[in-house]
Amino acid sequence: MTSVVVRSRGHERIVGRSDRALLDPAAPGARLFNAATLRRAALRRELTCVYQPIVHLVSGAVLGAEALVRWQHPALGALPPDTFVGDAEASGAVSVIGRFVLETACRDAFRWSTATRRPLDVWVNVSPFQLATGGLAEDVTRALRQSGLDPSRLVLELTETPTSLDLDSAAVQLGDLRVVGVRVALDDLGSGYSSLLRLVRLPVDIVKIERELVAGVCDDGHCAAVVRALAALATALDVVAVAEGIETASQRARLLELGCSLGQGFVFSRALPGPAFAAMLDAAG
Ligand code: C2E
Ligand code: MG
Ligand code: MG
Repeated sequence: MTSVVVRSRGHERIVGRSDRALLDPAAPGARLFNAATLRRAALRRELTCVYQPIVHLVSGAVLGAEALVRWQHPALGALPPDTFVGDAEASGAVSVIGRFVLETACRDAFRWSTATRRPLDVWVNVSPFQLATGGLAEDVTRALRQSGLDPSRLVLELTETPTSLDLDSAAVQLGDLRVVGVRVALDDLGSGYSSLLRLVRLPVDIVKIERELVAGVCDDGHCAAVVRALAALATALDVVAVAEGIETASQRARLLELGCSLGQGFVFSRALPGPAFAAMLDAAG
């Protein structure tokens, strides 16, 4: 029996028995999953979305949720995105996964908004690779049309990926989507080399401040200073600052002092399966 070691955010864990057919023969050892395997996962409905609430930091009101993809792998069990999104980006399958998440998240958000009779935003992660292939606008338009979701309820989060992004082309594609009302967020601000350039060159409505910075706001003066500066930058650019990965009530309070108005993190809720998220909305009235 061969075990597969899955790496996730620098941690390694053994997830189960390997099937050699899962390995990409073109790049042994480099990738765990090839494009065909990932596309098949989407077609076979092995992918799901879980939803993490995005909350108003003062009132605690749930304004919406970020859709986060999961893979219920038939042999390896539940896989977090860090274990396969990189392979999907490298192999070209990320657009298939992206389409699945867009369609699922828009459909779910429309249903919840209708059931609760209050507007709810859904935030969908988009890889820069989806912009590079040029099909994003079409995928977004289709997901909105099929679901009936109002475009102003959809936020696209541009994820931080170690790849160069054609900023001119990205700006045009995102600008076209903004014209119809879709909002654009820069994910993980503070984590990468190009975030600030992206903030200047792309049409952005929201920035999400990286979890590692948020983790230090209470006991690391440098982290607090950087978060304060990023929140001030957001205000100066007329964009909304969202703090990611808030784990304690003290961090929530400190982030409010530092100028963040929205947030998400375990202190509010972990990512929940769709029905559990809907039940949480119900319970909140
Ligand atoms: P992200 O978009 O920055 O998502 C936030 C991640 O932080 C999620 O991990 C979430 O579960 C985790 N998180 C939230 N609050 C806390 C907290 O208080 N403490 C800690 N320690 N963690 C928290 P997840 O679901 O494993 O996603 C990891 C990354 O995978 C995402 O980071 C995003 O970059 C990528 N990803 C997820 N879904 C998709 C997708 O549909 N498409 C693409 N392209 N990437 C995705
Ligand atoms: Mg995100
Ligand atoms: Mg993030």
